[in-house]
This record gives sequence, structure tokens and C-alpha cells, in this order.
Amino acid sequence: MLPWSFLPNRFRETIKTELGRPPVELLLPPVTKPTREVDLESLNRTAMDDIYVLTAPEMQGRRAGSIGETRAAEYLATQLSMLGLRPMGDPISGFIQAFTIPPVVETRVNGRLTFKPGKNTTLRSPSVNLIGGLMGEKTQEIILLSAHYDHLGVFEGQVYPGANDNASGVGCILDVMRRILREGNVPKRTIVIAFWSAEEMGFVGSQAFVHSSTFPLDQIKAVLNADTVGNGMIGNFALWADGENSAVKAIRQAASDCGASALLTPFAGHNSDSVSFASAHIPAVTLMARDWLYKNHSPEDTIALLKPEQISLASEMMYRAVRMLAF
Ligand SMILES: [Zn+2]
Repeated sequence: MLPWSFLPNRFRETIKTELGRPPVELLLPPVTKPTREVDLESLNRTAMDDIYVLTAPEMQGRRAGSIGETRAAEYLATQLSMLGLRPMGDPISGFIQAFTIPPVVETRVNGRLTFKPGKNTTLRSPSVNLIGGLMGEKTQEIILLSAHYDHLGVFEGQVYPGANDNASGVGCILDVMRRILREGNVPKRTIVIAFWSAEEMGFVGSQAFVHSSTFPLDQIKAVLNADTVGNGMIGNFALWADGENSAVKAIRQAASDCGASALLTPFAGHNSDSVSFASAHIPAVTLMARDWLYKNHSPEDTIALLKPEQISLASEMMYRAVRMLAF
């Protein structure tokens, strides 16, 4: 069975148009409706709870376009719904924004497994971003918190769990939103959280969003992106951005208030989803652990690599930065 046949109903209409002709009827499970009420179980979860779920064997390394990605997307859509956030995906798809990914092939660069473009670029497969928001007093001024949830999948019989890259970032962003919801204060600006897919294939999900956003891009005042935040020396972080901007300023101030360091570092051939927003002239920054490259894109990127204290600190910094930008 093809992976897309597992997609739930709310993916269907957007996926069908992407699949083109002839139209395909998909056999799909029932729709989960957004609840609107905050579910206590979800509100009390932690980043580590999310990371355990996202790195479980059935997630199969969350490769974009795979059944593992769909399972991860289902988990995240359920969390957004249980947190009572407003669906901000495609108009008829709730939290889901559907897009397609080009074919890719695995390759190793300096020992790291990565993807390079495949041959037949007209053969695309479906993938999804997940987007939900907490409305502020100014509904049309948005602070966007994001993390990619996809990873590399399974290669040569080995699962690449991607605990640090980037279950850690997803957990961090969910932690920040849960804390804001627990405190119960209405922000001045709307806070949107987004989980991108196909980052590992070249920022495809975030680029699809920038290309075809589900709300006007000029409403986004800053983007705080978390990628691979859970390892290394406690308090040792790094930032990627196209120079100084309001997002960089906020996260750097937050780091210094927490006694942590977050140095702006050169890209050196690597980047993350903040680049998609920087190219659209939106202030954006990616926060990562300074030692992010350690065991990155290897089967050893497991929970054992993570330091919960480092993830908590990343969440604390992100939270403080959001307080500065949205309250
Ligand atoms: Zn990666």
C-alpha cells in the first residue's frame, strides 16, 4: 500500500488536487475534529514526552513522504487540537498544510547521511506541515515559532531516529506554547506554532509555506525556529540568521538573561528553515545547540544523546524571547 493512502480525511482534498489526474479516491480513516477546549493531559505533557513519541520505532525516522511522517503528523495535529489552538493550515484541512516533495536519493557527505535531488523531478509525493495559533489582541501581527518534524527515515536497514534533529526542537516549541497556555494570558500579538516537514530535503516544507502561505506573510513580525537544541554543554547554543534582526535580538537577550550563550555563527554549508523566511525578508533566527553536528544524521541520534536540562533551557530561552516579542 502506498504511504499516502494512510492519510486522514482532512488531508484528502488538498492531496487529491496535488495528485492530479486521473483523480484518485483515497481510503481514509475518520476526521479528528479540533476540540477547541484545552485538554489537561496535553497541557501537562513535556518536551521529553513528545520526543519519546516522535522517536518510537513506529515513527521509522519520520522521512517526508513516508508512513512514519504521517504518524508523526497525526500525533502533532492531535496535540495542536488538544491544546485548543486555532487551525491555520489550508482552509479545509484544519492544522494541515499540504504540499509535495520532489524525489530524492540518499548520499553520505563527510559521513553524514543526507539527501540529494533525484532524477525524475515531475514525480512528486505528498507531505504536510502543521500550523496552529493562539490569537492575540492584534490578530494580524504574528510571532511564528517553528521546528521541522521530519528526519531521514530508514536507510540500509538502519533507523535514523532524529531525537536531537529535530524531535528536540518540536518538543521545545510545544513546551513554550503549553507554558503560555497554562499561564492563560492573552498575548498582544498572535502566536503561531508551525511544524515543517521535508526540511531534510532542502527546507521544502517551509519554502512551500513561504511560497503559498495560509495567512499573509507580511503579518509575520518575527520567526523563532528551533533545530537540534538538545545536546552538548549545558547553556552552549548557537544561532543562524542573515545578520542582526529583531528575532536575533530577542533570543540573544533571552540567552543572556538565562546565563546561556547564543552566538551568531556562519552557515558553513548548513542551514535550517529560518532561511526560507530570511529570503522573504522576514526577521528570522534558528536556535541550535552549539554541538549540534555531533552524531547528527547518524543512527546514533537517539534519546541517549539528549540532555533534558539543555532542552529545558532552550525552551526557557524561546519562552522569554516570545514574551519580549508577543506580550
Ligand atoms: Zn537534519
